Amino acid sequence: MGMKVLVIGGGGREHALVWKLRQSARVSEVLCAPGNGGISEEAECAPVDVRNLDALVELATRLRPDLTVVGPELPLTLGVADEFVRRGLPVFGPTQAAARLESSKGFAKEFMQRYQVPTPHYAICISADEVKDALPHFHPPIVVKADGLAAGKGVVIAQTTEEAATVAAEMLSGKLLGEAGAKVVLEEFLEGEELSFLVMSDGERVAPLAAAQDHKRVGDGDTGANTGGMGAYSTDALLDPQMREWLLTHVARPVIAGMRAEDAEYRGILYCGLMMTARGPMVLEFNCRFGDPETQAILMRLESDLVDALEAAIEGRVSDGDFKWSAEASVCVVVAAGGYPGSYEAGKEITGLEEAAKMEGVKVFHAGTSKRDGALYTAGGRVLGVSARGGDLETAVGRAYSAAEKIRFEGMHYRKDIAASALKPAAQ
Ligand code: AMP
Repeated sequence: MGMKVLVIGGGGREHALVWKLRQSARVSEVLCAPGNGGISEEAECAPVDVRNLDALVELATRLRPDLTVVGPELPLTLGVADEFVRRGLPVFGPTQAAARLESSKGFAKEFMQRYQVPTPHYAICISADEVKDALPHFHPPIVVKADGLAAGKGVVIAQTTEEAATVAAEMLSGKLLGEAGAKVVLEEFLEGEELSFLVMSDGERVAPLAAAQDHKRVGDGDTGANTGGMGAYSTDALLDPQMREWLLTHVARPVIAGMRAEDAEYRGILYCGLMMTARGPMVLEFNCRFGDPETQAILMRLESDLVDALEAAIEGRVSDGDFKWSAEASVCVVVAAGGYPGSYEAGKEITGLEEAAKMEGVKVFHAGTSKRDGALYTAGGRVLGVSARGGDLETAVGRAYSAAEKIRFEGMHYRKDIAASALKPAAQ
């Protein structure tokens, strides 16, 4: 009998995980909770809310999966991995204590300071008075961050000291983000290229994943509002071996060793959001799980067995070679609903998916869709992650956009410049 694997979550990242897990010769059944319209074509979906730990535990106790992979941060920060471990259910994802690296930006900043991990200057404030005292130490623009989880809405880049004070006060009042803003972090603004560097850890050792770059703003040329992510790409050129080794030595390994020293052993994916500055790489944030949409691009390049790798992390035997990456490039273009990241309508019929799926090197991951009577409808802000692989980045990008052009639904929009900054030098 092959393995039964449960994936928790229902977005594009989880679709990519389901897709890759199904490719393992060791896996006979993939389940997903709650999944979405596209995932339901590849895995049996159970309609369970990812915030409902009791229901997730009940589901896993009934189905007895050989492995559960947790996609989103919310259940991890609520302690879903702790609950599973307590019941002897093998689970991939950090404990609640380890997930504090994501659930409290203040904790993450102080932790980085304790272990000399490079990160921008900061101040943690719990009152408007503390903000007032701290602000003179910063030059605008000033980055104001809510301490807690805020689904991508917790970071404001204030252009003036006054604006920073106003935003911080709004966060602290609870009006803007509720409890997540009870503490704020003021941070020095950095310029540079952003890089998503993900590693897998068993609590002691780390194995790097292929690096990726994502695109957070809604509009071409990095304009407009911040989103959950409008696209990502992955190539070997993003991170050379020397820099990868530097990041392992100065970021990933000290973090894993520090968490272990503080009795919060970190098992799972550690996502390091970096800014590559003139002063060297600096950590902007940690996430306690796979990124979305980076995972869609990254997994398009994974050639080795994902189940083997995840099991190595759970069983404490991670090694450098757990992942084998294709030298090809990959890209994921997010197709969003009209109005996203503001308010949007759901329930628009999606056409052209079959045609897009037939194209060479293309895989369309579903982020927010539902299936009814054989037809697919939009059911979220980010609807699809049109992904492609190719011999070089230009080919991958061309394939993804050709596929995106086949797809139609009312109000759809997507960025036309995913990976464009990386293509420019080659075109000259
Ligand atoms: P975070 O959730 O902390 O990664 O912040 C979200 C986004 O805000 C990042 O991806 C960056 O684009 C931007 N950002 C955060 N911190 C800084 C900083 N110190 N300097 C410049 N940009 C930042």
